[in-house]
Amino acid sequence: MPEVVVIGSGYGGSILAARLAEAGLSVVILERGPRMGLSDLRQSDDLKYLQKTIELVVSSDNIGFRTGTMVGGASVPMDGGSFRVPQRSFDATDAQGRRYWPESYNRASMDPYYATAEEMLQVRQFGWDEIPKAGGLFAKMLDMVGASCERARFNYTDCLQCGFCAQGCIYDKKTTMLRTYLPLAEANGAEVRAGAYVDHIEPAESGYAVHYVQDGAAKEIHGDRVIVAGGGIHSPALLLRSANHLPGLSEQVGKNFNNNGEHGFIGILPEGFFGTDDYSCYMGSDNSGMLCFHWFDEEGFTLHPGGGIEPSIFAAALAAKDHPSLPSKAWGLEYKRFVESVYPHRVIAFSSLGLDPGHRSVILKKDGSVDVKDTGNRSATDAYLDRMESIVFDIGKQTDIALVPAVPRKLSGTTAAHLLSSCRMAERIEDGVVGPDGQVFGYENLYVCDASALPFALGVNPSLTISAMTERVAEGIVTNG
Ligand SMILES: Cc1cc2nc3c(=O)[nH]c(=O)nc-3n(C[C@H](O)[C@H](O)[C@H](O)COP(=O)(O)OP(=O)(O)OC[C@H]3O[C@@H](n4cnc5c(N)ncnc54)[C@H](O)[C@@H]3O)c2cc1C
Ligand code: SF4
Repeated sequence: MPEVVVIGSGYGGSILAARLAEAGLSVVILERGPRMGLSDLRQSDDLKYLQKTIELVVSSDNIGFRTGTMVGGASVPMDGGSFRVPQRSFDATDAQGRRYWPESYNRASMDPYYATAEEMLQVRQFGWDEIPKAGGLFAKMLDMVGASCERARFNYTDCLQCGFCAQGCIYDKKTTMLRTYLPLAEANGAEVRAGAYVDHIEPAESGYAVHYVQDGAAKEIHGDRVIVAGGGIHSPALLLRSANHLPGLSEQVGKNFNNNGEHGFIGILPEGFFGTDDYSCYMGSDNSGMLCFHWFDEEGFTLHPGGGIEPSIFAAALAAKDHPSLPSKAWGLEYKRFVESVYPHRVIAFSSLGLDPGHRSVILKKDGSVDVKDTGNRSATDAYLDRMESIVFDIGKQTDIALVPAVPRKLSGTTAAHLLSSCRMAERIEDGVVGPDGQVFGYENLYVCDASALPFALGVNPSLTISAMTERVAEGIVTNG
């Protein structure tokens, strides 16, 4: 019987598995998805292929959320942006003025864990010669309105700027879990069981029984300690499926879900904006290498440029009247030429991330499937979007760039990839699902540690903070036994 069963192998699962195995504990990782190697990855927008690297969870009101789906989780398709969050994010408070984060969490107390995670993930600031043109264009736009931005920090090394990051990097330039923490876990004896879908957890005489399905067969494994790390949608779903066996769970399971205030914009530049009309902005990595904190302290949002092939999908939609038919295949030379032709060369794409509390909950439908349901309580989100959009549209006016939201507001959040706070960490069971040590309130040795445990939106990309928080939780387990 393993001492630790870890469910999920994204940032939360792989890092905990690595640190606990390193400390000498016997660890089994159950991951529902397959183990894919470099030779399984493709530079393709073919939906059948994309479903292998990213799961799209579609809500009852047709918003699609992107989550990890294979060994390594969403560390494989992520876009590389790796940031420490400013103190301002740790200090965010609710309507009653109470801090979301537990008292002991702040930038200073997290810095040592950030440093460890950055070293493992080889995070560094991009050099000027690594910034794609779309990033330069974004910087120019901000400069025109008196705002500044800085070169972003990435876990890419020697990136070839091919623009297929979300498909998984066929050149192995990204430090995913498959290249970092998982090999460390396995070198210390951890076992990864791929294709193992966990249905529910129940308390056993000692520890917990974890019920899962692998190769069509129902199986059970006991763990003295169980770590739930299925990500922002599937961790709460798993706890909700287990609720009959875990009646003392917090009522906050599934609630407080937010998408980190992500909202996209796309614009057409005026002719000759930068002395040329050809920016080839479809080229370069998916995250175009810059980050703007200009409005963060006062308004609670950052902006970053999009790039790579993804915005070309939106551009294709804009240009659809001129290009009624798509190429037969979403890869290959014909497809690349199509992208070049529809991308008007004068398109700019960028997104916000911000301190939006969100307005959705993860719930189970009657048939047992998962929904990310709109609670109807959109007032805080609308206030956030109102403030942020008015600033962004003002940028458009001042620069003569015709800016529009990438999707209408009621579809805001669609394709969001930061799925946070649905099992959030808090000081008290009334406010969250796990305590500051990552342990589920009321259930000793049961943990949730992944994007769902982040107490609140961050305003910058979350993977490094999930990693640092997980390093801290792991240290607590190892130190306190
Ligand atoms: C396309 C894309 C781009 C992104 N770009 C960035 C970026 O640039 N910077 C950044 O910081 N973040 C980025 N993110 C977000 C980041 O990848 C996630 O926040 C992070 O991976 C979340 O880690 P996690 O451990 O919570 O979950 P995940 O990485 O999603 O891992 C959860 C794992 O659990 C498995 N699982 C779920 N349920 C079960 C079950 N019942 N049984 C067994 N296994 C299960 C899943 O298959 C998955 O592998 C991006 C995400 C996507 C999809
Ligand atoms: S842009 Fe860079 S990190 Fe992204 S897939 Fe290409 S080589 Fe890999």
